[in-house]
Amino acid sequence: MAGRNHLYIPGPTNVPNEILNAMHITMEDHRSPAFPKLLTPLLEDLKKIFKTETGQAFVFPATGTAGWEVALTNTLNPGDKVLIYRFGQFSHLWAEMAKRLGFDVEIHQETWGKGIPLDKLEARLKEDSAHQIKAVLATHNETATGVTSDISGVRKAMNAANHPALLFVDGVSSIASLDFRMDEWAVDGAISGSQKGFMMPAGGAFLAFSQKALAATEACTYPRCFLDLRDQMTANKDGYTPYTPALPILYGLRKAIDMLLEEGLDNVFARHYRLAEGTRKAIAAWGLSICAQPGFESNTVTAIIVPEDKDARTVISTAFNKYNISLGGGLAELAGKAFRIGHVGDMNDVSMLGAIAGVEMALLDCGFDIKPGSGVAAAIEYYRATA
Ligand SMILES: *Cc1c(COP(=O)(O)O)cnc(C)c1O
Repeated sequence: MAGRNHLYIPGPTNVPNEILNAMHITMEDHRSPAFPKLLTPLLEDLKKIFKTETGQAFVFPATGTAGWEVALTNTLNPGDKVLIYRFGQFSHLWAEMAKRLGFDVEIHQETWGKGIPLDKLEARLKEDSAHQIKAVLATHNETATGVTSDISGVRKAMNAANHPALLFVDGVSSIASLDFRMDEWAVDGAISGSQKGFMMPAGGAFLAFSQKALAATEACTYPRCFLDLRDQMTANKDGYTPYTPALPILYGLRKAIDMLLEEGLDNVFARHYRLAEGTRKAIAAWGLSICAQPGFESNTVTAIIVPEDKDARTVISTAFNKYNISLGGGLAELAGKAFRIGHVGDMNDVSMLGAIAGVEMALLDCGFDIKPGSGVAAAIEYYRATA
């Protein structure tokens, strides 16, 4: 089909040409004296995206999933208790991983469409006076449901309970696109990946750890090798990596960080808010509802619920087959009931309108009772009024 396939999924996202070009390189000797000139400032500048000055940033040739594992296996001992709220496929998978790795996982089920319940968290931590819970696992942006949790509120709840657990945050679909403040929120382990807000291909796990987490790393008895933070720390100190780095990922990250800082993180966050808000206006104009409950709406992805007599999978396949656009599917219990529009990464008003127009055509094709142009019109009005 002529024209581009547009990715309106919440990852992988569209890769800007500047980043593609920066990644198109010949291989280099990663043990050369020149290599630290790339890696050392890169790791330093990555800290700016996480908003940490006191923490340390890391890059693993892996994906976000490995980032979860790095956090767990480098700081906790086998059998340690971790607490997680589960309200979507990604928080579910993180909990399952912790189980499979042999931790004692306390799972609290929360409605899909809501995020971490701060009052319940505080009450549970207060109850844990023996401090058996060693880590709280918080999914900042639940990509399956389009729900953003309040991480600053999680920190406040932990402080109110005077609880010393480590705070690990999955920021794979939030860091570099939604407001995230590692130091201010005293996050101990922040986990992200290359293919969402960082606008890169998959293949980089980007992490930052607090001094408290790094101290736990030294004492941790969990067996680990490839994902051992101590090896990274030893090699990174001199500007090297413990094994062959994914060089294109490092060059891509260099460009991505430069682009994000040039736009300004606050502008990046504001842009994601506007793109999301226009999408929500379009959805409201179609008379459809979203999975996220009020106050939890994500600015990187929106999950749209279809009426009971419809199957969201046909909307997605129609959009792909007829209009060459990719939408996100409903995951697990949302399969068939929801489809997702990603508004994360290298997007602007016009690319967002492309997504909205494509969805609108697919909805009409699938017999949805909507007025042609209604969603596009609502978004156009909003974008023009707020440009
Ligand atoms: C995409 C995503 C992941 C998984 O990342 P991979 O790079 O696919 O391993 C984890 N958590 C969240 C919230 C995500 O959006």
